[in-house]
This record gives sequence, C-alpha cells and structure tokens, in this order.
Amino acid sequence: MRRLKFFALLFFLLMAYGCIRDGKPEWAINAQIVEYTMKVGDEETLYLEVHPYYKTQNLIIESMNESVVVFEDGIIRAVGEGKTEIKVYLEDYPDECYIEISVIVTITDKQIPETVLEWIKTQIGTEVDEPKFFPTSHPQYAVEIEYESQNPDVLSDNGLPFKKEFDVEASVKITVRYNGYVATDVHDVVVVGYAFNSIYNYFFNQFPSFTRRILNDINVRMDTIYNAYPEAVVTWHSTDVSVFTNAGKYIQPINDKPFQIVLVVAFPDRGLERTYVENYTAAGLSVYDRAAIVQEWLEELKIVPAMIDTDLELPQIYQQEFTVTLEWSSDKPKIISDDGQISLPNKNELVTLTCKVISGQESAMIHFKTEVAGKGYEDKWEEIEAFLDEIFLDKIKTQRYTIAGVTASFYRYNYGYVPFYFNERSDVTQDLLPADHAFRPSPYQSYTRKYVVIHDTANNNPGAGVEMHSQFIKNPDRTASSWHYTVDDELIYQHIPDMEVAWHAGDGEGNRYGIGIETCINPEVDYTVVMQKTAKLTAELLYKYGLTLKDIRQHYDFTKKECPRVMRINKRWDEFIDLVSIEYSGISKFSDVEFVWESLSKNIMNDKGYVFNHPGVETTVTYKVKVTYNNETREYTHTSVLLPPAWS
Ligand SMILES: [Zn+2]
Repeated sequence: MRRLKFFALLFFLLMAYGCIRDGKPEWAINAQIVEYTMKVGDEETLYLEVHPYYKTQNLIIESMNESVVVFEDGIIRAVGEGKTEIKVYLEDYPDECYIEISVIVTITDKQIPETVLEWIKTQIGTEVDEPKFFPTSHPQYAVEIEYESQNPDVLSDNGLPFKKEFDVEASVKITVRYNGYVATDVHDVVVVGYAFNSIYNYFFNQFPSFTRRILNDINVRMDTIYNAYPEAVVTWHSTDVSVFTNAGKYIQPINDKPFQIVLVVAFPDRGLERTYVENYTAAGLSVYDRAAIVQEWLEELKIVPAMIDTDLELPQIYQQEFTVTLEWSSDKPKIISDDGQISLPNKNELVTLTCKVISGQESAMIHFKTEVAGKGYEDKWEEIEAFLDEIFLDKIKTQRYTIAGVTASFYRYNYGYVPFYFNERSDVTQDLLPADHAFRPSPYQSYTRKYVVIHDTANNNPGAGVEMHSQFIKNPDRTASSWHYTVDDELIYQHIPDMEVAWHAGDGEGNRYGIGIETCINPEVDYTVVMQKTAKLTAELLYKYGLTLKDIRQHYDFTKKECPRVMRINKRWDEFIDLVSIEYSGISKFSDVEFVWESLSKNIMNDKGYVFNHPGVETTVTYKVKVTYNNETREYTHTSVLLPPAWS
C-alpha cells in the first residue's frame, strides 16, 4: 500500500462546488483511465482527480494483487502476469468514496519460456512418488517442452520413477522453447522409496475402504508395527476425535462430518520422514434414521391421536439434535386438510396423514392413521338426513373382481349396490367348539378385546361355505387353527366365544386380543353380500366392546400374510370400511329409528339395494326409504346413476 498526501491542486476548480448537495458533492474521485493493459515490466502514470471538497483527505492507492502490479512513486508497475484491480479511496471514507481501476498484465514472448519453466517445476514438485507423467504442453502458451533425466536408472525422461527401497535423489533437465526464445534448467527431485509405499498401503488398508464412507460403528485395528520394517517409526492421529478416535473407533455424528487421518512414517536412522493426510467423511444419520427419530417424537407428543374431533397442529419443522422440515398431506383433504384443519364428516372416517421428512435433498415418509369422529347434531331428523346422504349414492359403481384362493382363480361381478341400512341385527348361529377341544386354547378365560381381525378362508372350492367350515374347524387332525366367526352370504356361525383366544392371526397380539372373522369365497356366494354381512357383524362387535373403526385389522397387519386376499387384491378394503362405518352409525345412533327400504326400479334393483339385472348400459335407479322416529314417519326418495359394467 502506498500513500500520497493529496494536495489540492484543483483549487481553481471552484465551479465544482456547484454540485454539492446536502453538503456532499456527487463525486469524490475521478480517473481518466479506468482500464490498463500492460506487459510485465511496463510502467504507467495514474491520472487522478479528487473533488476539492475532499482536499484535506489522504488518498490511498492500493494494488489488490502485488504479484501483478505494484504502485510506487505515483507510478504503476507491472510485475507479473495476471489481472487485478487498483483501488483508490479516501482514507476516511474507504467504503463510500473509492474507484477501482482494472489492470491486465500479459507477458512478453521472451518471458514465456521462463514462465512456463517455473510452472513446470511447480507441477512436478520436489518428489516423484506415483507414476505421474511430466507435462508436455502448457494450457495457455504453445511451447515446446523437452525433458532429459540425469539419472535414467531411477527416473525416465517422461517422469516415471523406478523406485528403490529408500529415497534417491535425481534431477531432470527441462528445456522450454517459444518463438526462438529458450529457457532451460536442471530440476532436482526425490524419487520416493517403496518402503514408504508399503507402510502407507498397509496402514490405510486397515480401513474398510479409502473412498467409501464409514457407515457403521467400526473399530479399526490401526497397527503401527510392521514386520518388514521394524525400524520404522509410524505414528498417526485423527483430526476429529469426536467422530474417529485415536484408538480407531468410529462414533456416528448427527450430520456427516469430514475429518482427516494424518500418518507420519519415519526412518530415523536414515533421516527420512514423510507425512500423509487422507480425507474421510464420518457418515451421520441417514434420512431414514432421522425419520424414525421424528416419528418417535411425533408419537410421544401425540400429534396425530388415534381418534380426533378437533383441528391438529402439525409441526412444520423438527429442530433438536438436527433440523429437518416436515411436509404434511392427507388422503382425505375434505375431512382433514393438509394443514390439519378438520371438517367433521357425517359418519366416522379413517384418514391417513403422511409426513414427509425432508433432510437436504433427501426425504422419507411417515404415515399416521387416525379416525375422525362423525358430527353431532342437535336435531334428530337433521342427523337422520345426514346419515341417508351417506347411503344415497350419486353414482353406483360396478366391478369385476377376482376370487383367488387354493384352487384356480375366477372372476365374479358386482353389478352395483346401494348400502341400505336395516335395523335387524346379525343372525348368528352358535356352533361353539367343545370347551375341551384342542383348538379352543383358553376356555372360560376373558381377554380384553382390542381388534376385530378380518380374514378370508382362501378356500375357493365349491361348497366351502359356512357349513363346511364349521365341520372343518372341529376336525382335530389338521394344523392347529381357530377363529371366532365364519360368514358367507347367508349364514354366520360362531365357533369360539368373543372373549377367548383363537389361533387365527399368526401372532400373539392378534390371537389374544383380536376377534377373528373368516369370510367365505366359495364360488356359490356373492362376495359383495358377504362383505356387507361381515361389515354389520364387525360394527356390532366394535360397538359391543367399545371399539371403533381404527380397531379393525386385516390379518395382513399382524404377519404381512396376504389376507383377506380377495378384498386386498381387488382393492375393496376401503369399500368394506365404508360399509362398517354405515353399520356402526346405524347401531350407535339410530337404534330408535326404523328404516324401511323399497326399490322403485324393481326390474333392476331389489329391495335390499342390490342390482340383480343390469341393463348393460348406464341408466338410473330410484329407491325410497320410510323412516320412523318418535311416532313420526317421513319418506325420502333418491335416484342414482347406475354406471355401465366396468368390464365391458
Ligand atoms: Zn387370515
């Protein structure tokens, strides 16, 4: 940095005072030339002008890179190739009153060989260890380069080392030519002995990998004594013992943490010593580890309770030992919005909220299932009408579905139905296994009822209905199994009392606390009717034991067995839950209300709501329900669009 006392030679420019506003002029320093192009060795004079308002200020002139230009005695001098700025400023106002003058310095043809020669020396360095070829060209100047090894027994002309056991000195003559100009020099190097390489390789091979991140809790042995070189003194250390100790133990950090292993290999008798530094990354928690921690936190805070009727406060960030952002979405946004606002449905509904845990570029999903309670009503008729709105359909869907089981799969057809609600309770035939039967494991013992577990029999052979299964369950000469109820499209049999253990879920929790229902899939049954009868039975059991929709399980939920397979593979599970929900509302809220249904499209739909004669094209069906409550009867009529067969 050079300083010039600025004498106000421009005093006579008093006119310039005219541009002072609020006591300050519009400009402070002015340069006649703002960009210089020079060659190394050139000199230039800077022409500057300072506003008279600042006449008492020191003017500071500073080269931003003194290896390119220096400023002295009022002159800029180019000293090296490159590009830089000269900053000119007022001493008291360095950040407000300054200008920058850019300077580009190039070299002369004569200087090029010398410059390239210096560049080559820095490229080669003072040691030749790995086989690394000497540069044969320069990225900027089209020079000719020639090498001549002075010790061809340890170093080739192009830079390949012929290693000896210990270090050997060697030199290479370098000649650079450009446009008739020549530079030449002899450059000394050390050809590193292979004793160092052996120790280096042995040492670092103790790590699982040089490049792979260290992913697990790892103890590295870190031997420092070598049979081949007992005289070698080998020491090492980690630059961050919080993630990798000097005993070789990896400690998982929260976030990825780079560290280095520094290895020093010495042969004191020979006066040789070399230091190696290798970069590693101690891998932190993966996004899945983070998601698991966030899930535990959300569960502990009961952010999404199993059953809800008020808005949820869904956190958007987790900010503790690490920070991740959370993005929520709902599979039924009309009931729970993505930001947790609840619109109470008419009947209970199951909603899945998904929390996306975002950590940098990566993300992982967590799912929460919750049950939203149906609305409460002041007026009974209003509540009844809301219930009917759930049953009345705008569109009646049709579906071809697959019955898959122990024998060949076949298709069945759902021609459409409206889920009429009837007051009648399920007609269950008691057909209990004898108390001493081997598959009735705990007669007379009562267990808390926590689940209703849905299965299908997997028996799609003809005749495999309720009656056949009631014989089958009694047969002791088979693999042990039992369940509480079997349902087909006409009958329901109970085999084990509700409160007892039965062997159906393949899992202690499910067997002990779950009531198991088998649904029949034999070719004689209409499985849609089986589903509806099972829904009514399920709702009755839920209600009886103080459970709700959230307590329904698939056999799959306990053991990942594909069961109830027919509902699962045909994606009819949500339809089943909707049927249970209607039955549950009926039992829990409308036991004092009578519903009498009638089809008004008698050649298409029966009085139970089932389409028995689909015309093959889209049409409409009309039906009526007479509702009696408190000695008052009201009639409601509804028309639905019956969609054409989904399979044609
Ligand atoms: Zn099952």
